[in-house]
Amino acid sequence: MNKNNFAVLFVTAFMFITSASLQAQRKSKKNKEEVVAVTKTAPYTSPKLVVGIIVDQMRFDYVTRFWDQYGDGGIKRLVNDGFNCKNNHFNYAPTYTGPGHASVYTGTTPATHGIIANNWYDKKLDESVYCVQDDSFNSVGTETDAGKMSPFRNNVTTITDELRLHNQMKSKVIAVAIKDRGAVLPGGHTANGAYWFNGKNEGNWVTSSFYMNELPKWVKDFNNSNVAEGYKKPWNTLKNIASYTDSGLDSNAYEGLFKGEANSAFPHDLPALWEENGQFDIIKATPYGNSITADFALAALEGEKLGTDAITDFLAISFSSTDYVGHKFGVNSKEIEDTYIRLDVDLQRILNTLDEKVGKGEYTVFLTADHGAVDVPSYLKDQKVPAGYVDNNQIKAKLDEFVKYNYGTTDIVKNISNGQIFLDHKIVKNLDLSLSEIEEQLAKEIMSYGICNRVYTGEQMWNNEYTKGIPSILQMGYNQERSGDVLLVYKPDYISYSTTGSTHGSAYSYDTHVPLLFFGKGINKGETYERTEIPDIAPTIASLLGVEFPSGTTGNPISKVIK
Ligand SMILES: [Zn+2]
Repeated sequence: MNKNNFAVLFVTAFMFITSASLQAQRKSKKNKEEVVAVTKTAPYTSPKLVVGIIVDQMRFDYVTRFWDQYGDGGIKRLVNDGFNCKNNHFNYAPTYTGPGHASVYTGTTPATHGIIANNWYDKKLDESVYCVQDDSFNSVGTETDAGKMSPFRNNVTTITDELRLHNQMKSKVIAVAIKDRGAVLPGGHTANGAYWFNGKNEGNWVTSSFYMNELPKWVKDFNNSNVAEGYKKPWNTLKNIASYTDSGLDSNAYEGLFKGEANSAFPHDLPALWEENGQFDIIKATPYGNSITADFALAALEGEKLGTDAITDFLAISFSSTDYVGHKFGVNSKEIEDTYIRLDVDLQRILNTLDEKVGKGEYTVFLTADHGAVDVPSYLKDQKVPAGYVDNNQIKAKLDEFVKYNYGTTDIVKNISNGQIFLDHKIVKNLDLSLSEIEEQLAKEIMSYGICNRVYTGEQMWNNEYTKGIPSILQMGYNQERSGDVLLVYKPDYISYSTTGSTHGSAYSYDTHVPLLFFGKGINKGETYERTEIPDIAPTIASLLGVEFPSGTTGNPISKVIK
């Protein structure tokens, strides 16, 4: 470019910039009022406290089925004064407690966060691992191994981590649950404390040296106060049992029993059943487990001074006893009805205390579940609904026979767990066999057993991008590093479980459809039937607070929820 050309270009550019800046000035004058109005409010809300509540095994229909039994200050208050997502689902399977708690708080699914089940067969270690067990840490508050836990198997950050990272670790994050995984996974990698209940002969709240080397004074005081001892009392229904019209007969063949009980009728005499049922562990399978969780959560509120300054704190509470009761007595039991009536009272107690200590309108709450549950299949069968039971040992025996006949060895099938078959890749390689061919042969063989609705192979999970329905749900739960080689989808209402009580884990609606309620500061009043998904919760709370989404987020903020 010569000098003259350069000068022409320079002048032209100058004129263009001047005219553009004049235009911008005019435009900005015209829009001045609008601009001022928009910048008046910060693009986030700062509640003093966020309370995340997960109710273990809470089906969506527990909101509606027991509605008339609830008081005005608990579940009804959250629904009437908050936002109710009525078509909220888990978008992955297996639907278990560990993956559920991880997914709520990470905004993604096992495919990304890696918590594929509660316990799973670890391919590298060639042994079963527990989702939060970590032997590199010590128990704090107990001599047992109950405290040797950490969130290290979760690959990503949680909303609780992001809140702390956002404000230089000034936010306090405390997580509590009867179950260790119900506290450890919501707390994330940076929690100030996560506490869970150690039953047996102790009945104490404990933690891991991952968080601290000694229990804080308020936890020691709580443990020394004998609150747990106070729940060693008979479990009778809170209201007159005659008013419990939304559940089956009090004593029936679909319910499990505490050891030492002749039938499942009320009352359950905890002092008499104490020794035979693991002492303090029996509290877990009664609504008293939820009550002591509420007691302890409120002690944390006080002891940690949560929500007392301008920096947002986070209290993660998980109610585990709803799950233990559902597993033992089934979703249609009087015990479940009573457990939810009592949970509603505990929720009311928590909300009232938050009003008093943090201030009405100064805190934000969400309530959801970690999975749903199936109606007891033996009950369904008696009502002529297609349902049944699957015996994993029988599947293993049949498969061993099949591979012995076809490949000359039973060593190929290494493990069957969580609806997945793990093959021994070394043996497959040594026999010079094709992994994908064996996967396909096994899938076809299993389909002939009459227990599956469909079967997928690991190869299919790797090579396809499923966007809808059950294949997509499986893929969202399929972690390439950790998941198995053949994926079984049992027929609807078929479970691998005892013929009494309920369980969960499937990709079907009864396991995926759970409540999602938002309430409090920054939350709109309203409801929606549009589909929302569990991974939407963390980005919704992140958007409300104006903090970054958790690192693996695949969900989206539910914009209607936020003011
Ligand atoms: Zn659970």
